[in-house]
Amino acid sequence: MPFQQKFVITPRYLTTGSKRRSGKKINPDIKFIVAHDTGNPNSSASGNVRYYENSRNEMSASAHLFVDDKEIIECIPALTGPPEKAWHVLYGVPTDNQLFGFNANDAAIGVEYCYGDKINADESYARYVWLMALICFKFSLDPKNSVVGHSFLDPQRKTDPGTGLSHSRRTYDQLLKDIVMEYDFCTGKIPPPPKLINQNGTVRVTVKLNIRKGEPSTKVPVAEIVMPGSLLNYVGYVENSQSINGNAKWFKDANGNFFWSGGVVADS
Ligand SMILES: [Zn+2]
Repeated sequence: MPFQQKFVITPRYLTTGSKRRSGKKINPDIKFIVAHDTGNPNSSASGNVRYYENSRNEMSASAHLFVDDKEIIECIPALTGPPEKAWHVLYGVPTDNQLFGFNANDAAIGVEYCYGDKINADESYARYVWLMALICFKFSLDPKNSVVGHSFLDPQRKTDPGTGLSHSRRTYDQLLKDIVMEYDFCTGKIPPPPKLINQNGTVRVTVKLNIRKGEPSTKVPVAEIVMPGSLLNYVGYVENSQSINGNAKWFKDANGNFFWSGGVVADS
């Protein structure tokens, strides 16, 4: 079973034998993932890794991977080489041991989310979610219960990744759900969401037509029923959604609701 390779992971390892990269291997296995954010708005993946390298003998704090809207950079081997230890959670906190039976530094991969006004939140978030789903796949972890936020392990000192996610109009709970969904997409367990084509227009309704709430599907509730002869404006359409009578094209309206294209004709 393959995993969809949406993005590239670029190895840019810190100098080994330094404070930040000891070179010690994770042994025997990866048990979980710790979700972090950089805590430094607008700092990029490459900027963070450069900073780590330049200060590699000054501090021992580190993480395996940095994600921004353009790149995924691995600075401590995790996916692109035999996994090594990084120092991303204090050894003294108890929750990692209680939940997973290990200290995070000895058994978890640390992933850092880059955020800020100058970073495209959707692009950065898409890479962050995909990367953690990929790590679950690669190390046979259950995506439902193998990712934990840093703030969850160290609530006295840390607020990540919730702080960074809130800059992206997202929450920690949403992140955990999105990782599971991304895992299911990328392993082919569920089909990917239909791709929306943005295009405005008007159509005339030919049947008693149900406008569906939020999704192009008869499985979601009806938002409104429209009578034949009415005109409807649309802002986009999807072509590969639920098929009715062999027609899988649905229009999206300005409220974010959908109606089946088989119930309308071009307005002329
Ligand atoms: Zn953190």
